[in-house]
Amino acid sequence: MSLISSKEELFKAMKEKYAVAAFNIHNLETLKAVMQAASEEKSPIILQTTPGTLKHAGVKYIVAIAENAASEYGIPTILHLDHCDNIETIFKCIDLGYTSVMVDGSKLSFEQNVDMVKKVVDYAHKKGVQVEAEIGKVGGTEDDVMVSEYEASLTDPDDAVEFVKRTGIDSLAIAIGTAHGMYKGKPKIDFERLRVIRGLVDIPLVLHGASDVPDEMIRKAVSYGINKINIATDLKNAFGKALKEFFKDNPDEYDPRKYFMPAIDAAKQVAKSKIKLAGCNNKV
Ligand SMILES: [Zn+2]
Repeated sequence: MSLISSKEELFKAMKEKYAVAAFNIHNLETLKAVMQAASEEKSPIILQTTPGTLKHAGVKYIVAIAENAASEYGIPTILHLDHCDNIETIFKCIDLGYTSVMVDGSKLSFEQNVDMVKKVVDYAHKKGVQVEAEIGKVGGTEDDVMVSEYEASLTDPDDAVEFVKRTGIDSLAIAIGTAHGMYKGKPKIDFERLRVIRGLVDIPLVLHGASDVPDEMIRKAVSYGINKINIATDLKNAFGKALKEFFKDNPDEYDPRKYFMPAIDAAKQVAKSKIKLAGCNNKV
């Protein structure tokens, strides 16, 4: 099996009301961790890399190991570019074998965001590649009252509808209160906003910043219509923590084939639990 586009898997998830887990990978070890997890859970999988990881590992290396993993494990595998605001990098990834891309125009105005995303959609769709995008933060004032920072950053349902219609994207990342990285307190998720957007938008919805969010909140978000959950920090934490513990007990070990094993296993266990939380286990 070769890498596939995200269209079929995400629309299936939307129809059957579950989410596909998307994991950020950085090297061969993290790729193996999530592929083993998905294979054991009989789950489709989205491997994703940020532009930072492409700088670290190189686009061709990532494509090569992802293609190999797709054929070796025989499960539906999607290779996705996460959060990219550079159009040349996006086109390069599409040309070299990525099957899904996210255009991040969140720093742009609504109109500029639409223009940039449309350019990517035109290019990607010709090559059978799917496009995810998010709409920019709604900042500033409303009726002369300062909108709080929290409220202002959330996706406006009407904007979401217009954005999807005008860009022709395949999936929409929405801001409903989650954030990247670790949370200071408990995240405050606006489920009502999610419910409204789900009722208005007929393409798969994506939840970013799903690490460090309590399980019951993820389950609820999925039941309210999220179809892709992005996990990066939770895997990095598990991997790094296992490595540190290994070296504490084995300070003289120098063989990467030994010290990476517990790290791969720790990341794999986290990935398995996230797959079950998303509900994409036993969907292959
Ligand atoms: Zn994100």
